[in-house]
Amino acid sequence: MGKIYLIDVTNRDGVQTARLGLSKLAKTMMNIYLNEMGVYQSEFGFPTTRHESHYLRANIKLAEMGVLHPIRLGGWLRATAGDVETAFRLVPDIKHLNLSISTSQQMITGKFRGAKTEQDILTMATDAIDAAKSHGVETLGINAEDASRTDIDFLLRFASAGKEHGADRFRYCDTLGYDNPFTIYDSCKQLAEEVGIPIETHCHGDLGMAVANSVAGAMGIVDGGQDAYINATVNGIGERAGNADLVAVVLALRRSKGMAEKYKLGGSIKLKKAWKMCKYASYAFGVPIPINQPGVGANAFAHASGIHADGVLKDPQNYELYDYKELGRGEPEEVETGREICSGQYSGTAGFGHIMGKMEIEFKNRDEAEMILELARYANVLAQKPLVEDELKFIARYPDIAKELMTIAPLE
Ligand SMILES: [Zn+2]
Repeated sequence: MGKIYLIDVTNRDGVQTARLGLSKLAKTMMNIYLNEMGVYQSEFGFPTTRHESHYLRANIKLAEMGVLHPIRLGGWLRATAGDVETAFRLVPDIKHLNLSISTSQQMITGKFRGAKTEQDILTMATDAIDAAKSHGVETLGINAEDASRTDIDFLLRFASAGKEHGADRFRYCDTLGYDNPFTIYDSCKQLAEEVGIPIETHCHGDLGMAVANSVAGAMGIVDGGQDAYINATVNGIGERAGNADLVAVVLALRRSKGMAEKYKLGGSIKLKKAWKMCKYASYAFGVPIPINQPGVGANAFAHASGIHADGVLKDPQNYELYDYKELGRGEPEEVETGREICSGQYSGTAGFGHIMGKMEIEFKNRDEAEMILELARYANVLAQKPLVEDELKFIARYPDIAKELMTIAPLE
């Protein structure tokens, strides 16, 4: 039986969302939290985008140091041989890639405007795979953008061509959230059976079915005899109506009717890390967690009405499917209600020393303290909001890495 793995795409789909974004330090913190949670892979950025280069290289160093381990850091780029060359020129040590190209008739006529045929798409994709292979990429995914609106026969040919050229996974992108659980189950099962390649689902919420479609797709892949890799984002943040929410996907796989007995999660997911990670993502993106968000919403374990309150007091399982402690909730959190000294881009030694002292971070000498303060100022310039404790601790612990990932030099 195949297993189900999670690929988080917050640092790719999440950050490319209109009006939203993360600083390079925040992206790094997301990778750290995802690693702690046991997520299989983080799609950590865009290796052909120049302002990502230092961040990507610094995070690969963190992986080599064992800080970001065992999580895999995957880059995303267009499936062209030229983009693959650019990616390896800018980020030579990148090990995991996903190459994306549109496959649907809608995109061929509506986007490529007749400039490309189905055969051209196959050729571009396989040339890109060959190029990535020649650079020694460790794992490689080939993405069919708009797969759900692609003729299934062409999709089968596309995935088979990818496999023949050495792709390790095929990504089925329901780019517009067009599928429903029944259609995506059928398509994914057929692809798994007929192509014989592990498959990723990539689902969006335009019709409110991103989580359901991801789970149903994964069921089809496993029933088709392959491993499934669900793409998800923290708090469901992503293009338009968003992506499948990571925590909701895990809850659905663990807790929905009859699921866990038949469909197994690969690796060990530590859901206890969810609360902290989701709160951080909310702060970093500046997007509140909806009150009714599964697992981490303010109302996920709140009861007011007489019948429900009475029932949950007698036995929580009367009105709760899972316990708040499973998500890492329930610990008291300290919130400053009086005077507060915050980090900022114009922080000085005294205020900064006070903040770091409260976190019990000690410096070897004054020079080190000043260097860390300087880096924290830069981090504030990029974040445009006070840094949280974990960010300050990260900078103090890995100053060289922090310096590298925050380096952005236009037109380098
Ligand atoms: Zn997407």
